[in-house]
Amino acid sequence: MVLRGPLTLLLVPLLGLDHVPSSYDCLFRSYYGTYSSRHAFLVDEACRFSSFSFTELGTAVDVQWAENLVWVGRSPMDSSLVPTSFESDLGGLLTKLANLPGSGPDVDSEETVSFWQTHFKLEPTQKIVPRFDVLHLEQTGALLSVDNWTLQSIEAVLPRYWAFSVLPTSPLPLIPVSRRVRERLRDLLLTIRYNYVIAAVVNGISVYHLREDIQYLTGEDPSSDILSRHSFSEGAIRAAEWLKVRLEESGASCALEHFEEGFSPNVICEFGASGNSTETVILGVHYDDRGSFGSVRAPGANDDGSGTGALLAIARAIARRGVVFRKTVRLCAFSGEEQSMVGSRAYAAKLRARGEDVLLMVQGDMLAFHAAGEPPQLGLSNPALVGTAEVTQILANVSAIYSPELTVGYAPYPGGSDHQSFHEQGYPSAQVYERAGYIKDPMYHDSGDLSEREGYDFEQIKSIAKVQLATILHVAGFDLSGDHNESDHP
Ligand SMILES: [Zn+2]
Repeated sequence: MVLRGPLTLLLVPLLGLDHVPSSYDCLFRSYYGTYSSRHAFLVDEACRFSSFSFTELGTAVDVQWAENLVWVGRSPMDSSLVPTSFESDLGGLLTKLANLPGSGPDVDSEETVSFWQTHFKLEPTQKIVPRFDVLHLEQTGALLSVDNWTLQSIEAVLPRYWAFSVLPTSPLPLIPVSRRVRERLRDLLLTIRYNYVIAAVVNGISVYHLREDIQYLTGEDPSSDILSRHSFSEGAIRAAEWLKVRLEESGASCALEHFEEGFSPNVICEFGASGNSTETVILGVHYDDRGSFGSVRAPGANDDGSGTGALLAIARAIARRGVVFRKTVRLCAFSGEEQSMVGSRAYAAKLRARGEDVLLMVQGDMLAFHAAGEPPQLGLSNPALVGTAEVTQILANVSAIYSPELTVGYAPYPGGSDHQSFHEQGYPSAQVYERAGYIKDPMYHDSGDLSEREGYDFEQIKSIAKVQLATILHVAGFDLSGDHNESDHP
């Protein structure tokens, strides 16, 4: 997109929307997503100067020109892992952006050039004059206006513990999760109590297979030729094809869904409903990863090989016990998460356009790591930030019943994974995660994110996968086919 001002980006604190009268309809038509604890609205002058006062709602940022608006900022890291200040990181980032390949001799190393050629299919001699600007600064994040070239390159020069999000090219619908949907979940919540059939199914999750699958995805298994699962890599395409085959073996119908040129596809698998319900229950993960800059390795054993392994383990347990769901259940392995949830945003928007009735979506992202001396944990997304309280409550109750070994608490940051894409479309969602705290995995976004290392706990992945599987069994309802004729309806 090319934005020509004068436009105003209004940043409203997460809970601030409750105070906006519904008569401010030009504002509600100008929603561009939620970033770093702020809702973003991009409005023209007519809206800017209509009857209400912007300054009461939030912070107003002038936008004169932008090909792209991008949020950059520190991921929610434990402070022990981040020795540098946000300001110095930002300064370093801006210097690197000004000296992208073709515009500065110091970064045009052979390694850098080959990285660019591989990932962006560029001529090493291409001369670029990058255009970017800092529009707004917060404590641990900033809003940048950048041209297309800079956007294409930003991931490669981003400080290791930072993430970025691109604002969409057109307004998003601002759809709250409806009262009707929340009431349905509240009714379900009341029905969740210990069920011995569910306990037997979830206890069938195999750590042996979990380890095998994850080590195939990371390339630690010598028979695997996957070096990287970066969204733009060959390895990611191979991983997607491999995932599709494994998930189909469990009886699901799968498709590779392409959403944007250059990205490896989403892997979308479905277990059809035995009943005539139109509701859908979704488990999501992302199979793409981000390694160290310049390295060809992006093994992502934790981020998000752990969630992807759990998804496969869940599918295997469904197949082993002959589970037939009463409502449609989808297992989705998204791509493009590391490039600001591109794959899941496309997918969730497609579901909304088709009018799909998503009863609940649970994202599993980074399930494996806890620091030495810490108990196994389950971190839940905080619904005061992103997500739906009823979904979080269901997960917490299910965890207490089927995985009492987990210490449960909130992960203290908003969004940041594919559940946010569903939240943006008004679908009830939550994330399960490895810690009731900030990210403490020292191999986060590092090419050393392997599974055979201290703190990487397969048993914790299994415990969290049990929570995910027990949740969909309770919420979708199920029968057991074949030899298993015990049945259950929650
Ligand atoms: Zn992740």
